Amino acid sequence: MKRKDVISWDNYFMGIAHLSALRSKDPFTQVGACIVTAQKKVVGIGYNGFPTGINDDDLPWEREGEFVDTKYAYVVHAELNAILNATTSLQGCTMYVSLFPCNECAKAIVQAGITTLVYECDKYAHTPAVIAAKKIFDYAKVTLIALPHDVSVSLKVYPHHDK
Ligand code: ZN
Repeated sequence: MKRKDVISWDNYFMGIAHLSALRSKDPFTQVGACIVTAQKKVVGIGYNGFPTGINDDDLPWEREGEFVDTKYAYVVHAELNAILNATTSLQGCTMYVSLFPCNECAKAIVQAGITTLVYECDKYAHTPAVIAAKKIFDYAKVTLIALPHDVSVSLKVYPHHDK
């Protein structure tokens, strides 16, 4: 008899987004994104971090100070990383993301052809970046779906069991 208590597709893909976020070195905000096709194939994942190949110690994680001394000048958001990491056309795909996107990511999401966004947290809803993002999604007719619950994942690493 097959298992019936398997995790849902939504929790599976949001779980992958959260697993990706565990890679983020940002001390304040860890965000993950996972892009899936209509056939539920994962075709892109990402988390927030500095551009590939740059030594993480060369750039700041600060949130305050001169622009060039803050992370805002350098971090690639999870959503954009997932798009840039994609292995195929994203036309008609769904993006799962743990935090509602900013306007810059919203532009990239629309431009990439993603038509559905499933998000979990919207704690920056009052900020201009998210207000603008929602205008972009609205005008571009991107379907927004708020996951009605939170997902979390944890990874355990331990020595092999004796076989
Ligand atoms: Zn963003």
